[in-house]
Amino acid sequence: MKEQTLILNSLPIDPLTGSISTPIYQTSTFVQDAPGVHKGFDYSRSNNPTRKVLEDCIAKLENGHAGFAFASGLAAIDAVIKLLEAGDEIIAVDDIYGGAFRLFTHVYQKFGIKINYVDSTNSQNVADAVTDKTKLIWIESPTNPTLKVSDIRTIAKTARQHNIILCVDNTFASPVSQKPIDFGADIIVHSATKYIAGHSDLIAGLVVTSTPELSEKIKFIQNASGAILGPFDSWLVIRGIETLNLRVKQHAENAQKIAEYLLEEKLVKNVYYPGLPSHHNHEIAKSQQKYFGGVIAFDLVIDDKELASQIVSGTKLFKLAESLGGVKSLCCLPCEMTHKSIPAEKRYGSGVTDSLIRLSVGLEDADDLIADLKQAIEAAVKANADKTAVTA
Ligand SMILES: *Cc1c(COP(=O)(O)O)cnc(C)c1O
Repeated sequence: MKEQTLILNSLPIDPLTGSISTPIYQTSTFVQDAPGVHKGFDYSRSNNPTRKVLEDCIAKLENGHAGFAFASGLAAIDAVIKLLEAGDEIIAVDDIYGGAFRLFTHVYQKFGIKINYVDSTNSQNVADAVTDKTKLIWIESPTNPTLKVSDIRTIAKTARQHNIILCVDNTFASPVSQKPIDFGADIIVHSATKYIAGHSDLIAGLVVTSTPELSEKIKFIQNASGAILGPFDSWLVIRGIETLNLRVKQHAENAQKIAEYLLEEKLVKNVYYPGLPSHHNHEIAKSQQKYFGGVIAFDLVIDDKELASQIVSGTKLFKLAESLGGVKSLCCLPCEMTHKSIPAEKRYGSGVTDSLIRLSVGLEDADDLIADLKQAIEAAVKANADKTAVTA
């Protein structure tokens, strides 16, 4: 079955009423026939019919065993970390999402969990970092904001060899373009806030497990810690998923055109987009992603924060905001926004220079988006004629 059919076919018709849209079961509790005798639902923290439709759907889309919906991407990540015990070690991608870094380092380190950050675009770095205490390998692919890609198949082999859980944060790719469980990953997490819900109207997270054992453990943690997604937001995510395939395809098509335009733009130095043959990890990306996503980052030949800041303030279609994956295009200046808390030295090391601009390419027409960037760049160049003379 093709992806778009699979998506629509994995959302059931309500068995009770025939409602074609999943009903929102906005309830905390369920009336029982006799003590302990009920229809499979007793309390909405443990299980809720609307949430269950979403959970079953994401499990299918990721070829997993079970899915779990959480109140945010970080709550989903938090549930996976709770599989560990004091003394355990994590090997994590060094370009990790800032919020995951904060959670690992500033919350879990004090409970005795050690984190070793490595550049996982070289799979050997992961293999070399394994110790007898390593219990979890954590990668994101592609990463934020410079779209580094790790070889999931090779890292999965290392994980399997040492009996380590491999978790992939699949937020940037979405299940439509990449299915890490097919490559040997054990767990997938998503910030469903981004592409999966896709309309910049909620915060949500998902976990997909690959085995009954892991499913049982995550189910226990989800119920024990309680950071579940509510019925209404579950319904909104379901509604978003209905068009996920179409959106991701169009995001990628638009982004490819914009990335190619940026390559030609004189003021632009590096363009980071896995769909460009010049991208460091283009070959690996091609081998594991169906689409290359909607996020692009680029920096300027003059590494000037003011200049970059005027560009992101001067766009009209690209709205200046954090986050990504929505239908409306967004832009941001990571050094002042998403990556402000990272020390400049570390930031520069991962390519997040003062002039690096991140785009989340939306579903407006690509030509209009290109024209918007052009006018913003031209205006910024004019306003900074003294600095930009070299590019004239
Ligand atoms: C946004 C994001 C998260 C965190 O998700 P929230 O829904 O904001 O809690 C985690 N990982 C990646 C890659 C993200 O982009």
